[in-house]
Amino acid sequence: MMTRVEGHEVDTRHWIAGHRVESAARFHSVSPIDEGVIAEVSAGGPADIDQAVEAAATAFKTWKRTPREQRARLLHRIADIIESRVEILAQVETRDNGSLLRSHRRGVMPRVAMNFRFFADWLLQLDHADFDVRGHRNHVSWDPSGVAAIITPWNAPLMLGTWRIAPALAAGCTVVYKPPEWAPLTASLLADVTAEAGVPDGVFNVVQGIGREAGAALARHPKVRRLSFTGSVATARQIAAAAGANLVPLSFELGGKSPFVVFADCDLDLAVNTAVGQYDNAGQVCLAGTRLLVEESIREKFLEAFLAKAKAIRQGDPRDDATDIGPQISRPHFERVDGFVQRALASGLQPALGGGPNRDLGGLYYRPTLFVDPPAGSEILREEVFGPVLCLQSFRTEEEAIALANDTEYGLAAVVMTGDPERAERVTAQVSAGLVWNNCFFVRDLRQAFGGNGKSGIGREGGTWSFDFYCDVKNSVYAPHGWRTHG
Ligand code: NAD
Repeated sequence: MMTRVEGHEVDTRHWIAGHRVESAARFHSVSPIDEGVIAEVSAGGPADIDQAVEAAATAFKTWKRTPREQRARLLHRIADIIESRVEILAQVETRDNGSLLRSHRRGVMPRVAMNFRFFADWLLQLDHADFDVRGHRNHVSWDPSGVAAIITPWNAPLMLGTWRIAPALAAGCTVVYKPPEWAPLTASLLADVTAEAGVPDGVFNVVQGIGREAGAALARHPKVRRLSFTGSVATARQIAAAAGANLVPLSFELGGKSPFVVFADCDLDLAVNTAVGQYDNAGQVCLAGTRLLVEESIREKFLEAFLAKAKAIRQGDPRDDATDIGPQISRPHFERVDGFVQRALASGLQPALGGGPNRDLGGLYYRPTLFVDPPAGSEILREEVFGPVLCLQSFRTEEEAIALANDTEYGLAAVVMTGDPERAERVTAQVSAGLVWNNCFFVRDLRQAFGGNGKSGIGREGGTWSFDFYCDVKNSVYAPHGWRTHG
């Protein structure tokens, strides 16, 4: 099934064992920009998943023995092709998921290519840890574990997918990828890229489809040996049950309700600008610091500067370079976000900013919203909204700031704004989060460990942590030549 999106051809069938495979069932990909149907996509089910996992299991027999230099070369070739297609990938992704075209062009798609380059290079320098044990040679090898199932969400589809696909392939696993049904198109383009790069048939497979059908069938398939899931806590619970039945190691990158702590001694301009930046991608960012915790003595000054800056956010068509934030991904998601806001309003909270859909733009555009001083324990403080909705609370002491920061079941990220380096270290040490940024935000690098505590996830990815996940590490001990250890 070929379709044209922003003038570019996309084949929306599955990609299994090096072939395009059609399903009788299809689903629509709807653009958040205007809610128009932009593509019909194959909706996979258990039979397609079975075919893809079998293909991946067969391909694994050869791929696992492919020399690492050759695997690395192939990944670099994938990166080269992605780099030559940044514009196409950026345009299709923006139409499909409504994120800014300029960030796809400048940041996201180059990073997609980097995912492949980085893990190719990291593979070549993985430490095999040879050492001597009382005259015996000890050897640690990173053996690929088998078929990796990768399931990811729509807020940064190709970036989040390739962040898991690249290390899995580098490690020598074969992959069955189930892209998000709300933004499935760049996964289809990625299949073309891997074919052109010369990735052998069956090493990388894409099964499009709905989560509870294709996703669930993949998660419970008995031949899957690793499950990497990025998405919501509710889905994670179902996937964990499937993984439990098959005893499959899993890696979960889930939601967040991250604290953004502003001390009175901070650089106020930096703090305000960074805080307003939490509305980026229309709030659909897992790492966003959605709970602004501001020291009471600067609360009014902070709030005034924050509101002035936030009111200047330009909302509109994400293809326009002048736009700061675009629409919500889909009608159901828009309504979910609005549900949180409406319930907060019904409880008596008044928004200091926004508080509803953007009626001037209509469609799926939602106004950046701020609630000040929601009552402790209220839903809007507790639950991840995953839309442009922030809360502000204030504190008097450092201890109170830390207690508020940790008053969550999540633990993905935290931001600390302070002019005191010792305070930065003290607070960082006491905040429960996988990632803490001091006087900065989103400084990311693939060498860093990435993951969350509590309801934000299980495990870490990035650098060696990714290989740790996708490999069955083997320890071998060799007696000295000619030394009989038995008999
Ligand atoms: P979701 O859990 O609904 O969907 C994510 C993926 O899981 C999709 O591909 C979907 O098709 C699939 N899926 C759905 N039900 C399934 C099932 N029963 N079995 C198997 N697969 C199934 O999540 P979402 O709403 O699309 O994504 C938003 C969530 O993702 C937010 O909570 C956000 O914080 C989180 N997220 C986390 C990170 C991170 O790295 N920590 C990054 C981005 C997004």
